[in-house]
Amino acid sequence: MFKPGFFYFKKVTMIPTLATTHRMASCGDLRNIDEGKTIRLSGWVARIRDHGGVLFVDLRDRFGKTQVVCDPANETVYSIAKNLRSEWVISVTGKVRLRPENSRNENLETGEIEVVALELTVLNQSQVLPFQIEGTEEVNEDLRLKYRYLDLRREGLQQKLLLRSRITHIIRDYFHRHQFAEIETPVLMKSTPEGARDFLVPSRVNAGKFFALPQSPQTYKQILMVSGFDRYFQIVKCFRDEDLRADRQPEFTQIDIEMAFIDQQDIQTVAEGLVARLFHDVMNIEIPVPFQRMTYDIAINRYGSDKPDLRNPLIISDVTLPAETGFKVFDSAISEGKLISGIRIPSPSVLSRNTYDDLVERYKAAGLAGLILFRMGSQLDGPVVKFLNDESKQAIIDGFGLKEGDTLLLSTGVGTKYKIILGNLRLELGKILNLVDENQYLFHWVNDFPLLEWDEEEKRYVAMHHMFTSPRDEDMDKLGVDNSAVRAKAYDLVLNGNEVAGGSIRIYKPEVQSKIFELLGMSVEEAKEKFGFLLDAFKFGAPPHGGIAFGLDRLVMIMTQSTSIRDVIAFPKNSNAQSLMDGAPSDVADKQLRELYIKTTHIPVK
Ligand code: ASP
Repeated sequence: MFKPGFFYFKKVTMIPTLATTHRMASCGDLRNIDEGKTIRLSGWVARIRDHGGVLFVDLRDRFGKTQVVCDPANETVYSIAKNLRSEWVISVTGKVRLRPENSRNENLETGEIEVVALELTVLNQSQVLPFQIEGTEEVNEDLRLKYRYLDLRREGLQQKLLLRSRITHIIRDYFHRHQFAEIETPVLMKSTPEGARDFLVPSRVNAGKFFALPQSPQTYKQILMVSGFDRYFQIVKCFRDEDLRADRQPEFTQIDIEMAFIDQQDIQTVAEGLVARLFHDVMNIEIPVPFQRMTYDIAINRYGSDKPDLRNPLIISDVTLPAETGFKVFDSAISEGKLISGIRIPSPSVLSRNTYDDLVERYKAAGLAGLILFRMGSQLDGPVVKFLNDESKQAIIDGFGLKEGDTLLLSTGVGTKYKIILGNLRLELGKILNLVDENQYLFHWVNDFPLLEWDEEEKRYVAMHHMFTSPRDEDMDKLGVDNSAVRAKAYDLVLNGNEVAGGSIRIYKPEVQSKIFELLGMSVEEAKEKFGFLLDAFKFGAPPHGGIAFGLDRLVMIMTQSTSIRDVIAFPKNSNAQSLMDGAPSDVADKQLRELYIKTTHIPVK
């Protein structure tokens, strides 16, 4: 018999018993070796079946299901069992027996045995459910979010969150093995909005002043490097008050990492090791390291994205044509300094006429000048071929490496936006032509992001990663001279077209940091007011340092093959940033507002 606190053998490993005051084993524990034991189980009624008088109750808890037999011969048990309903919480004491050969259930770990109930106690009843817990019934998401406690009781979601728990366990183990210190940073911090909007928290004891919730622990983790912790990590909630998109939440979790005395390569090696370990331990998939690396420029030029999906074999190439091609569209594009770019669709893939017409229409609407179709037969073929001189035709064949049976889609334009439109086309073609292996996990790095980008709305430069990111050494003298050409020591980790992590090597000299603040349009006073503490810290011996942060939710989403980020978060917000279960955000009492010295100008709609 199992007793709380004892150990018993399950399979070959010794694990702590799940016995407690209310049970001697979990609903997933019993096997044929337990035959003859009298045990007590507690759990939820998953299903009840009436087999000619005998009632079979599937008893469920987090660990599994056990079949409980309630025989009319035991009148007390039977009279209670008759009235049981789905999701009632019960406790059963009974005898473990082997199931008859023909009624064993191979899909259930406990499928060889059943428990014949000797005593049955109802611990709690359940109202009629808004949706079924068992089975795979599709349920409206608002209803699921309102009754999240029931939704979380369903097997699919419960498995995902349990996997998330395993993932965070492995992450902690990995970092502790590599001598990282897990350090918590404040949730109430100073507001220094840049990029996203801050969530603000009024301070009662400091009337009229506000904390912000961290968009990330960026400044704290850098300061921990100044303090000499050398290697920091944290699994941490971050908050950004942005308009929500399908895969965004106002609060989300990062695996946050910072290291001292390192360069880009060192951080990337640590990140690769983490990913390889996670995929090995959780999914039994070997991910080869090191990952492929490409520059931001190549990512944009060849793939039209800063997070290209490399499972898709199509690439965007630019071709050089003679100044005179015979075709007006090309000639004027060339004279205007535009690129002639194309996507070669290798044989045997073919694009139907209808699909092509549809693409032309939609991509013109998206801003592409046009989309010219070529097909390679024994010679180059297509609606504009008749205009082209021989030299240009040959340049197209050679430039795109066309072989018999290939299709080519060609356009003209210039700039990042143009390439991004072509990148979207590339992705769509990959899907239409079924070129992407959905079972593949392809990681790669995108390095050398631009340091700054021009913000048309604000008419100033903004940091592309964040303002603590170091420029590349060779670009230092372009700062303030040719800002758009300055590359950063910034990198993103991309998996199948998703950015799963992003980081940078940091500035650690106060004078360089001040210079960047200035380029971002921050006055000396403002920089001092917002980040004086960081600039001060840098004056006391800051080591070279850098880091990275993984989006944990997105990573778990990919690892659990979920289609929604809400399926890997226990209590997510909906797309209006509301929690339907508890009704947050909500009105608060006037008294609370008065205590905080706050008056709202918003008049609630009653
Ligand atoms: N703090 C950065 C972010 O949240 C990541 C980093 O640079 O480490 O994107």
